[in-house]
Amino acid sequence: MAQQFLLSAASRTLSLRSIYKAGEDAAYKVFCEMRWPETEGEAVCPRCGCCETYNITTRRKFKCKGCGHQFSVTSGTIFASRKMDFVDLLAAICLIVNASKGMSMVQLSRDLDCQYKTAFVLAHKLREAMAQEIQTGEVLEGHVEIDGAYFGGHIRPANEKINRVDRRKKEHQTGKRRVVIAMREREGRTLPFVGMSEAEGVTLANENVSRLSTMSADEASHWDLLHKGFDVDRVNHSEVYSDHGKHTNMVESFFSRLRNMVEGQHHGVSPKYLHQYANHSAWLEDNRRTDNGTMAKIVVSNAMDAPVSRNWKGYWQRAA
Ligand SMILES: [Zn+2]
Repeated sequence: MAQQFLLSAASRTLSLRSIYKAGEDAAYKVFCEMRWPETEGEAVCPRCGCCETYNITTRRKFKCKGCGHQFSVTSGTIFASRKMDFVDLLAAICLIVNASKGMSMVQLSRDLDCQYKTAFVLAHKLREAMAQEIQTGEVLEGHVEIDGAYFGGHIRPANEKINRVDRRKKEHQTGKRRVVIAMREREGRTLPFVGMSEAEGVTLANENVSRLSTMSADEASHWDLLHKGFDVDRVNHSEVYSDHGKHTNMVESFFSRLRNMVEGQHHGVSPKYLHQYANHSAWLEDNRRTDNGTMAKIVVSNAMDAPVSRNWKGYWQRAA
């Protein structure tokens, strides 16, 4: 029997030891190479596109010979105005790609010896970078499974029975409950969205799945509408989970990872950011057979490609 990928040496191509042993200059070089791949890491002015620059090495800045603009490797990217060393940034990325079910921010801040707030914002910026690869706008093809799973809005029962309420009733809901609707190609991408009810998935499928695809869904009645646009396999989960190849097991396994992440690591997340945890989880799912060194490079490269984050730049300064 072939060795399971995650247990093989081929899955381990990056370690914290190698990052810290190579040091700050090597980490900086990785960021330069990912920012400017076409010039193999030689700086290109983001303002005028000029390749001729003065290198202000002491401050790790560049000055354009053409227009005089001063910039750094992270200017205009998601890591703009970073204060962390490049070596720690790379270590953070390594820790995050290794955590296949996510990582709590307390743990990340302890591992990196940084403030909780720093870890929180950094991880969210990395999720934005990952989301670029998930939310591509391209339609899904082939055999696509669809399903929804509800997150959040837990109502804690009161201590004494006399004070307990019927938690199913609308007036007792917290308003924080959301559904993650995911579509997953059997041999490829995972595409999640967040909504208020699972029935919204029909519109999402119409917008994001190729008409030539076959879809799989469970017995929930709102999926009946999918038959209008697609060839659909249905499986009745109250009777069987897999009926001669008709199943939604791939999308269920995505939800299992997401639930482990949200409930096991983060102990519940804000509905405002649930879509980013779903994107993070989808990214891990789609890269589950990628070695960790390549995963880290993909994240750095996406981050160097991602614009300054409107959500996370100066987040705590605004909150204060
Ligand atoms: Zn310039």
